[in-house]
Amino acid sequence: MTRHPAEPAGRRADLEAALGGVRGRIAAACEEAGRDPADITLVVVTKFFPASDVRLLAGLGVTDVAENRDQEASTKLADPCLDGVELTRHFVGQLQTNKAASVVRYADVVHTADRLRLVRALDAAAGRAGRRPTVLIQVSLDVAPGGSAPQEPKGRGGAPVADVPALADAVAAAPDLVLGGVMAVAPRDGDPDAAFARLLEVSQQMRAAHPAATWVSAGMSGDLEAAIRHGATHLRVGTAILGMRPGPR
Ligand SMILES: *Cc1c(COP(=O)(O)O)cnc(C)c1O
Repeated sequence: MTRHPAEPAGRRADLEAALGGVRGRIAAACEEAGRDPADITLVVVTKFFPASDVRLLAGLGVTDVAENRDQEASTKLADPCLDGVELTRHFVGQLQTNKAASVVRYADVVHTADRLRLVRALDAAAGRAGRRPTVLIQVSLDVAPGGSAPQEPKGRGGAPVADVPALADAVAAAPDLVLGGVMAVAPRDGDPDAAFARLLEVSQQMRAAHPAATWVSAGMSGDLEAAIRHGATHLRVGTAILGMRPGPR
């Protein structure tokens, strides 16, 4: 394989070692939870890192990558160094309806549907683009100290739990979307086990109405073990594989 200009020597070895570390954590957590690692998909979040890293990851056996900003993703995933590289592409960022048309062109999976207007925009855009992405309902797990849902969402996105059934029905009924399941980010200052246990309940309720909606997208670099304990099927891991991102992201 030719070395691409933006690919520093040693980067492949660093990524390989970090990926091995994360795969080891997944294996250990699965062992403890009595789960099969084959039931878990590692989605590597490549935001802020170059297309050359995405290419190296694919060469190391990574099958799924994620981005969280449309502008960065649409440029990076169109980079010629990724021509012919087979990857499932996920979008995990908060999404404005006016970006739906762009995102459905490259995203095979959109993790962040959290309102009806966005579901409608994604469906219309997918139909126009001749695409049929898998869509997850992002659930807000922020809980105020008193135990009730907060008045103001804390900015990590996601639908209140009460809105999830109607959103799932809307995605399931949309001709050009496939309902995949649920996604959440654990609240910053909460107990990830409590958050992911709640997400699993939401997933079970969704599956009662939509049996094929089996995906549970949960767990990042810091809390993937908790997510595995509570039924995660898709982990979204960035920092533990690629290193620290520059700036507050
Ligand atoms: C950046 C990001 C991740 C990855 O977080 P790390 O802590 O770097 O592993 C996961 N999910 C979403 C939605 C993200 O934006």
